[in-house]
Amino acid sequence: MDLLTLLLENELEETLHFPSTIKSSWLAEGILQLFPQKTAQETLIISAGIHGNETAPVEILLQLLAQLVQGTLPLQHNLLLIFGNLPAMREGKRYLDNDLNRMFGGRHQNFPPGNETHRAMALETVIRRFFSEPAVMASTKHRHLDLHTAIRGSCHEQFALLPYQSREYAADFLHWLENSDLDAVVFHNSPGGTFSHFTSEHFNTDSCTLEIGKALPFGQNDLTRFSNITSALQDLVAGSCSIKRNKPALKRYHVVDSIIKQHNSFQLHIPEDTKNFTELPEGFEIASQQNQSWKITSTANFILFPNARVAIGLRAGLLLAQLT
Ligand SMILES: [Zn+2]
Repeated sequence: MDLLTLLLENELEETLHFPSTIKSSWLAEGILQLFPQKTAQETLIISAGIHGNETAPVEILLQLLAQLVQGTLPLQHNLLLIFGNLPAMREGKRYLDNDLNRMFGGRHQNFPPGNETHRAMALETVIRRFFSEPAVMASTKHRHLDLHTAIRGSCHEQFALLPYQSREYAADFLHWLENSDLDAVVFHNSPGGTFSHFTSEHFNTDSCTLEIGKALPFGQNDLTRFSNITSALQDLVAGSCSIKRNKPALKRYHVVDSIIKQHNSFQLHIPEDTKNFTELPEGFEIASQQNQSWKITSTANFILFPNARVAIGLRAGLLLAQLT
């Protein structure tokens, strides 16, 4: 049976046998801790499938897992592999009850109990326990990459969202993002309920959400389109530092304003299929709701993740400025 079927049928645990140089333990369903035999300098968390219908990252993670089992990918650092939302993956849905990637940092308490609130709690507990492991505490560098695919088209197909943090972003982490051939990076301006924000805020991890392109149902993804990301992840796992940028210069943006839907009258005044990073004219009213409107200013004229169909109280889009 292939690894994807085994994962979805919860049979990976008894099937996978790692080389003797890797100490493996399953911390919960879909959460695998791998430590190299010798003391590691760095710790890496890679998560996929926090949104159940974002399939390509799950397939990429399974590919890495197969290489680790076969011994073709050496494990240099402590590694935690996370398959985020298995019940949603089985149904091919983004989530079953509510969006898991809005619930971290205790925000799950603001939602009615369901599949995702339970998973958010479980993931937070596991991450806390992981960071108290002696091998992880002994390592000096901690990174978390949370892999996603976007729902809509994008003017920049592959990009990273860096969570808001008051400390400086690590230069070597930004360098790795650049070398992984992403098209753009976006710096957040405020805390949020994402998984990457949680690890950054609570464990001082160099974290980001990686949007690697558009996903198709399981089995229909052309993984060669994501080969730069796969290589960049292999590079981190093996500690080889061998990747080099081949694309034009990386674009940088920062979030200036979040459009929050607070009323049923909320409307976005752009077509539903507007691409991420679309540039909008100054003065244009992009969104409105009772007693409030959002107009484009010259300092925040790019739209990211426009979506009017979010629940009340959630983000319906981000306005970005380009950094030069
Ligand atoms: Zn996602």
